[in-house]
Amino acid sequence: MQFIDTHIHLQDYKSNSTPQIIKQAEICDVNKFVCPSIVEADWKKIADLSQNFKSKIIPAFGLHPWYLEQAGSGWESRICQYFDTFPQALVGETGLDRLKSTPQSLQEDFFTIHIELAKKYNRPLIIHAVKVDDWLEKYWHDLPPKFVLHSFSGRTNFLKRAVAKGAYISLCKKIMRNSEAKEIIKQIPIDKLLLESDGPYQSEPQDIRELLKEIAIIRQEKEEDLSRKIYQNSEEFLYV
Ligand SMILES: [Zn+2]
Repeated sequence: MQFIDTHIHLQDYKSNSTPQIIKQAEICDVNKFVCPSIVEADWKKIADLSQNFKSKIIPAFGLHPWYLEQAGSGWESRICQYFDTFPQALVGETGLDRLKSTPQSLQEDFFTIHIELAKKYNRPLIIHAVKVDDWLEKYWHDLPPKFVLHSFSGRTNFLKRAVAKGAYISLCKKIMRNSEAKEIIKQIPIDKLLLESDGPYQSEPQDIRELLKEIAIIRQEKEEDLSRKIYQNSEEFLYV
């Protein structure tokens, strides 16, 4: 089996710990990592990481909705330099979050710009969405062809509407604490399911193997078949 961790903030671990994290992850068959930025100071760090671990780390450049008030003016042109230099990069993470105090209009302005970037560079969009079902749905018709709801934590009725719009759904270990976990896991279309650690905040790459096991039991599928399909989904999401 092999896995791609589709969401891990390697820049937020202790400095110089990436080789060790990769090594430990590889023991558990996780051999590639999507590394999304949170603030602008991450961009250079992630660019360097992806250059130092070229075949392992796929960068994503964006600004997380929690920290928009500290964004420096002119960030839009600076971020474009990264997409020009790293054509394989994803856009994110971005999104909407109703639990945080960041003003809603500010979240909307930044989210809109990220959507435009994803379309301009024809790259997938990594969306952080917390308690925003109806709010996010205002953007359904604007979203780029490929987008993921990362560390999905919504309800089944929202899930149904999201997958109808073509969303990829990425799960991390946290899903098991959702009261509708089983229904959510069963209802994600097999070709839209991705896995992530959301390290260092939610879990670690080596937890992905265990998560796969639990998902396979709930979906009544063989672990090998499921992991192969999820790997294929990850590659389709990232590259095709
Ligand atoms: Zn994140």
